[in-house]
Amino acid sequence: MILKKNLVIFVLIGLLLPMLGAAQSLKVTLLGTGAPDPSIDRFGPSTLVEAGSEKLLFDAGRGVSQRLWQLHIPLGEVNVLFLTHLHSDHTVGIPDLWLTGWLPTPYGRRSVPLQVFGPDGTEEMMSFLAKAYQRDVRFRLEGPGHLPETGTRVIGKDVNEGLVYEHNGLRVTAFVVDHGPIIRPAFGYRIDYGDRSVVISGDTRPSENLIKYAKGTDLLIHEVMAARPELLKNSAAARGIVALHTSPEEAAGVFERVKPKLAVYTHVSLLTTDPTIPAPAAADLIPRTRLLYAGPIELGADLMTVVVGDKVEVHRFAEASRH
Ligand SMILES: [Zn+2]
Ligand SMILES: [Zn+2]
Repeated sequence: MILKKNLVIFVLIGLLLPMLGAAQSLKVTLLGTGAPDPSIDRFGPSTLVEAGSEKLLFDAGRGVSQRLWQLHIPLGEVNVLFLTHLHSDHTVGIPDLWLTGWLPTPYGRRSVPLQVFGPDGTEEMMSFLAKAYQRDVRFRLEGPGHLPETGTRVIGKDVNEGLVYEHNGLRVTAFVVDHGPIIRPAFGYRIDYGDRSVVISGDTRPSENLIKYAKGTDLLIHEVMAARPELLKNSAAARGIVALHTSPEEAAGVFERVKPKLAVYTHVSLLTTDPTIPAPAAADLIPRTRLLYAGPIELGADLMTVVVGDKVEVHRFAEASRH
């Protein structure tokens, strides 16, 4: 009898554990892995983090709405956005996400304000956006469609380093990174869900503070920039830009100290400022990193998904997979 009872308990544990594991997993999708270049292959920087019923967006670069559309995620279901900094390549997708997201269509229907958290200036930027589009909002409110007024609002909130969001077991912590002496503050974000975590670097050169906050994380999504040596030799402008970012060799040093279960490159920036000197190839980024780092690493691609559960699994996008 006792044996039978134990067997039932074992079977129940066996059934429940995978379910608990699944409930604890974080799903991270790289919506855009590019930088300012208006590339068709790499849209502007934006990363979606899903956990339970939560859908959080980190940066909203060019094309964020199209990428959500490809995933069949209604824009109106994305109501919380975190900005790493206010450079245009990270923010030009905001008005599209905000305004297209409250149209009375199946992909819209946002009925609550879009909340935007970010560094100093975020609140001001959102208030200016609201001003810039006030006529559009008024036209649509007064027109057909019966759109809820609450869905027309975009609310910015300036935050400091520390815990900035906690909801449904998901915690988001902002930390200061180093995007040079002018763009201050610039943030990275750490997202914790149970004992899973993901860290998004934002734009930064190698940052001690990032290493501190990211130590031992499951998934580190880090920016990268490369330029050819001849460009760096000839162009002070290129040297100045590169100094605000992280080279593959520098990233290797960061990964070596953070020791993530997986490192993924995003904000893949292949720089040239001189039409006679071509940009380096994306295919060189991993080999250059490999010279100094032996751990798991992937070159990010738009719509690549990483599931952080008992294991960290990478899925490349296949159109049919989200239908
Ligand atoms: Zn950028
Ligand atoms: Zn930047």
